[in-house]
Amino acid sequence: MTQQSMHIETKLIHAGEPESRIEGAVTLPIFQSSTFQYAGQDHYDQLKYIRMNNTPNHIALHQKLAALENAEAALVTASGMAAITTTFFALLSPGDHFLVQDCLYGGTLDFINSDFKTLGVSFDFVNGNEPDAWTSQLKPNTKAIYVETITNPLMAVADLKAVAAFARNHRLISMIDNTFASPINFRPSEWGFDLSLHSCTKYLNGHSDIVAGAVIGREDLIQKIAHKLIHLGGSLDPHACFLLHRGLKTLAVRMKHQNVSALAIAKFLAAHPSVETVNYPGLDTYTGYHLARKLLDGFSGMLSFEIKGDVSAADGFIARTHIPISAPSLGGVETLITRPVTTSHSGLSPEEREAAGISDRLIRLSVGLEATEDLIDDFNRALT
Ligand code: PLP
Repeated sequence: MTQQSMHIETKLIHAGEPESRIEGAVTLPIFQSSTFQYAGQDHYDQLKYIRMNNTPNHIALHQKLAALENAEAALVTASGMAAITTTFFALLSPGDHFLVQDCLYGGTLDFINSDFKTLGVSFDFVNGNEPDAWTSQLKPNTKAIYVETITNPLMAVADLKAVAAFARNHRLISMIDNTFASPINFRPSEWGFDLSLHSCTKYLNGHSDIVAGAVIGREDLIQKIAHKLIHLGGSLDPHACFLLHRGLKTLAVRMKHQNVSALAIAKFLAAHPSVETVNYPGLDTYTGYHLARKLLDGFSGMLSFEIKGDVSAADGFIARTHIPISAPSLGGVETLITRPVTTSHSGLSPEEREAAGISDRLIRLSVGLEATEDLIDDFNRALT
């Protein structure tokens, strides 16, 4: 059986593992060595050194991640933001113009809003669901387009097939932050995207115990990004590589549970009289449901909602829940609850948040691996 023909569950366990087991070890050991013996390398990037991202722990992860998304290559980084910003630094130059989806993770949006000026890169926001409008936003110097598979925190799903086709037709580099979907629910290369970016801190590691990132996609672009990463220094430590490698092996079982559990919770919330709106692409009442069904294999464990009343009603609800932990971040085994205005999107001004459609009372939930029934009971009590 070739690796290409394996199911993703099998690739999670076996892709990228050393051909012959090191000393028979079933699990790839941690190579906690900053430097390695010189072996005649004739290029700086090939010297074996942690910052060059080429220890056995890095190489195994690169191969596994590329295999998961059926892509040519992959690169791990010290955080999701390191993956995103290093990609921008590597592929955008002063004078370039960039098209960006109008509702993104707060850290990415804040970087674009505040740091692109210094880089000399101009940008315009696009509505991910209005492909007919994108052509009018093109400029002769437009270089790339950037979207998220499922946006944070409103869970919008753009017309992703149209994004990849638009980029191809206009010779733009297409980039997508695939953190919320994970390769279980969406594999960007299969839809024609050039690059997929991840905060591996979330679903890919899945245990809320490391910060890590990845870029997956076209080999020529990954090489450029890897070279820039060597200069910027945002390399992942081998011990964190090991934890990410371990976490990845259970991604399929975790994500499948989270897909099912989040859908049940979204349905419960949508039917509750104290709940005003629920944002979850798997609800057939949600705008974009039919598009999401065509694109995604599952809708992820993330949802957001507003309950009736003001901000204090939202805070009261969060305080009355027992199981979820009130904390930023997502994608772990424990259910996390947060108001994005106080955490993931607190770096944006009130005007920027309003423009992105993020209200002060919006609550975001990252569904963990607890029993769905216990979570629903907990929410029911906290709502009543
Ligand atoms: N992309 C998305 C969608 C995120 O939610 C986050 C963090 O919350 C990031 C990127 C940044 O990742 P990290 O915190 O690993 O730098």
